[in-house]
This record gives sequence, structure tokens and C-alpha cells, in this order.
Amino acid sequence: MESLLKKYFGYSEFRPYQKEVINNILQKRDCLAVMATGSGKSLCYQLPPLLVDKTAIVVSPLISLMQDQVMSLKQQGIRAEYLGSAQTDQSVNARAQKGEYRLLFMTPERACSISHSFWSKLLQAGICLFAVDEAHCISEWGHDFRVEYKQLDKLRAILLDVPFIGLTATATEKVRGDIINSLKMDDPYIAIGSFDRTNLFYAVKLLSRSSEFIENLVDEFSKSLGRSGPTIIYCTTIKDVEQVFKVFQDAGIKSGMYHGQMTNKAKQESHRSFIRDELQVMVATIAFGMGIDKPNVRQVIHYGCPKSLETYYQESGRCGRDGIASVCWLYYTRSDFAKAEFYCGETKSNQRRAVVESLMAAQRYCTITTCRRKFLLDYFGETSSTTNCGNCDNCLGSKKEHDVSREAFLLMACILSCKGSWGLNMPTDILRGSRAKKIMDNQFHKLPLHGLGKDHSANWWKSLAYQLISHGYLTEIVTDIYRTISVSTKGKQYISSARLDHHPPLLLPLTSEMIN
Ligand code: ADP
Ligand code: ZN
Repeated sequence: MESLLKKYFGYSEFRPYQKEVINNILQKRDCLAVMATGSGKSLCYQLPPLLVDKTAIVVSPLISLMQDQVMSLKQQGIRAEYLGSAQTDQSVNARAQKGEYRLLFMTPERACSISHSFWSKLLQAGICLFAVDEAHCISEWGHDFRVEYKQLDKLRAILLDVPFIGLTATATEKVRGDIINSLKMDDPYIAIGSFDRTNLFYAVKLLSRSSEFIENLVDEFSKSLGRSGPTIIYCTTIKDVEQVFKVFQDAGIKSGMYHGQMTNKAKQESHRSFIRDELQVMVATIAFGMGIDKPNVRQVIHYGCPKSLETYYQESGRCGRDGIASVCWLYYTRSDFAKAEFYCGETKSNQRRAVVESLMAAQRYCTITTCRRKFLLDYFGETSSTTNCGNCDNCLGSKKEHDVSREAFLLMACILSCKGSWGLNMPTDILRGSRAKKIMDNQFHKLPLHGLGKDHSANWWKSLAYQLISHGYLTEIVTDIYRTISVSTKGKQYISSARLDHHPPLLLPLTSEMIN
């Protein structure tokens, strides 16, 4: 195994789990490999066919993704091909049946429409594994569900005795279960790699208005030109893509654009120029996604708070696949949160809860003052003992704590006074002395706390609330429609030890915009 690894791929040792997965495949056991982007999942299905001299069938969602893989495999001297459209496949089909390819790629639609007789000829020539790449597409719980994936299970009855391998970078347990069930995996070997991408630096910046983003960024780019390396900028809307792209281009920075309303040809051109290092910056929507197999992306910048941490982790994870230090920036404005709430209101009610929960996690990622890496890893169920990774903005920034006992007391007392059936806006408005209708209707203007928090902005109070949530004094609960805020047991303990004129110290690190 090691000599083939060296011969074809030039590597002298295996990365974690590669060898285990490969050994299980060789023993014909089904496998599920859940490993972070860039951890080397592809090798798990690329090496076995070379070891046993048989064909590996690889199902992959996008033609462009297959093209790239086939191209680089060929360059490494490995016979590989993909089944694209029916017309051009004649010669490929003939060779495939003779078992000439070590790797044969196809889309899930294609895999399901192949005739029995073709499969039996392939089987005669020898199939060593059936790999399903981006296997989370099979799950409705994943962020990228594709109906075609659902039908792959019928191949089980045809490909008897061929191990099925699912590969994905999406970690949640529900998705994992779905893959195993949908592919009818039999007691699979499950490899769950670490999601910690130690070479990535995580940082978040709050902008006061969105135009600040472009000014800020073009400025930074012009200063660091040539140093930062290939960059992807993810925007949440096509309008933003076009706007950011234009500003970058006008500034003389070689930029490309990618979004769902471009023609396929334009998208492909844009993609290729980026891969070939002809562009410094790719401004894109999340449509620029899977299969960006470019190892030297140095920065991924998100302009706007993402909809979930799953997507954020996958998108930001597209940098630094070569293991070299790379940077993940997230820029957001407060209005992103409001827009997101609106979008939640539009979601079908049976999905709303999942959507709101994902959003809350992403928003919390933006506002925490603790280690961002730890937060991400905890979210993906990986327990990390360290509380200071030394490679995120919060770990590197000053950890100075501020006594917010008065404010924390006011906020918690206010939340208790309005009996816990409101979101954050209500207590914030009460403290700021609002006389809006909803306040008067509920008689909240008569509360003794009404107007006692005028010295801070509404955003300041919300930031404080986020800190109190992340330190366990407050809890946010999602019901089908609403998010409500309440005081936790820890918060109540604090309140009971305090009075309006005397509060025991409560020290918290604050976000930089809260201090200014
Ligand atoms: P994934 O599919 O998990 O996102 P890839 O399979 O594309 O990741 O691998 C990411 C990078 O790591 C590729 O450039 C690949 O060549 C490289 N790689 C894979 N296995 C090894 C290894 N054993 N040693 C060094 N580099 C490796
Ligand atoms: Zn950290």
C-alpha cells in the first residue's frame, strides 16, 4: 500500500483513517467516511482499485467535479474516465466493459439509468468498490439534498458483493444515519475524522453598514496585493456579488464572478480561470460550491452572516486544503440578523424550527467572545479540551473582562418582569424607555425598570444578551415560530444575590463594538 501511495500520489504516509478505510474496503466491508474537507477522502477510493487492479465506480454530483478529478488522475498516470452524456460515451463504455479504467465516475442519475447488462459486464471485468461522494446529498437533513441520490439504493441489488463507500464532510448524526439507511449499508465501518482544521484562522468582524465591507476590503487587498493569495468572497445575494465584483474589478484586482444566473459556459470559464490561478479573487454566491478542488485558496471571506454553521464550515473550509496557514473571515451587519428573521418567517412551518436553530447557531458564532474554533467543534459534536486555540481572533485578541453587573442585572430582571414569553426586542425596548404600542398594551411602561437602560443602544443590549447566553445566564428557546429569551438557573441565582442598588461583580469579555 505504501509503495503505491508513493508511486502514484507521491506521499510517504497515510493521513488519519485513510488506511483503515482502505483496509475495510479490501475486506469488502461497507464504509462511511465522515472527514473534513481537505482531509483526503478521495484517496480512500482512489487507492484500492490500484491495489487490486479492478474498477472503482464513483458517484459524484457534478460533471465539473468529475472532469477535474479525471484530469488530475490522468496526469498521475491513472486510467480514469467519467460517463457524461450518452452520445459521447460509446468508446468509454466499450473500454469500461473491458475493465480498462481504474476509476469510472458518473452522476447519480447516470448510475441509476445504466442497464443491467452493462453492469454485469462491468462486474465481470471486476468492480472493487462503489463510492458515493458528497453522500450527505442523500439526506433531507443535509444542506444540499438531491433527489437523484435517493435512488442509488436500488443498485445494491445489482452490485452484490461490492462494498459501498459513503464520503462526506457533513458531520451531524442525523445525516450520518440517513446515509447508512439510504444506501442500505450493512454494518459499515465508520470513520469520523477530526473536524479541526488547525491551519485555518477564524475571525469575525461586525460592520456598521454594508458599504463599509467593500471599502475595507478593497483597501486591504490593494495593500497586501500578491501576498494574500487566491481568495473566495461569498455573498448572500446575486446583487451583492455583482456589486462587490465591480468594485474589485474597478480597483484593478483580477476578479471573477460566479452565481446561479450566469450561463453554464460563463460559470465554467470563471471556475477554470480561478483554478488556473488567473484570478486573484472569486466573488460568488454559495452556488460556487462543491468540487472546488483548489488546494491553495488562502482566504475565504463571507460577506453576510450565513444560514447555518454547516454551510459556513464547508464553505470556509475551502481554503488551506494544502495544509498551509489560511484565513476565514466573516463580515456581518446587524441587519443580516433582521433579514434572516424575515426569511425564517417565510419558511414552511414544518421546517421552520430546524431553520431557526441553524440560524441561531450561526448568529451566535458571530457574537461570541470565546474561542471560535472551540465553538465550531462543539457544534459538530467534537469535544475539544482546549479553550484557547491561539488561532482565532478571540483567542489572539485581548481578553480583558469588564464588570457588567449593573447592566446584566437590569437585563435579567427585565426579562423576568416580562414573564419570559418574548424575544430580545421587548426587554431591550423596555430598558430603553420605549413607549411603543406593544409596551403600553402590556403595561410594561409602568415597570420600575422602564427607561433605566437608556445609556446604551439597542444593539449594545443585544450584544450583552448574546454574551449572557454564551456564559449561561440566559437561554434562548426556539418554538415553532418565535425565539424567546429567558433567565437560566444560573442567571436567577445571580439575581437573587443582587439588589437594584447592589450587584455582585459579573465579569465578561465584551466585543470590541460594545467597548467603543
Ligand atoms: P477531501 O475530498 O477530503 O476534501 P481530498 O481528497 O481532495 O480531500 O484531499 C485534499 C488534499 O490532500 C489533496 O491535495 C490530496 O492530494 C492531499 N492528500 C490526500 N492524502 C494525502 C496523504 N496521505 N498525504 C499528503 N497529502 C494527501
Ligand atoms: Zn480560538
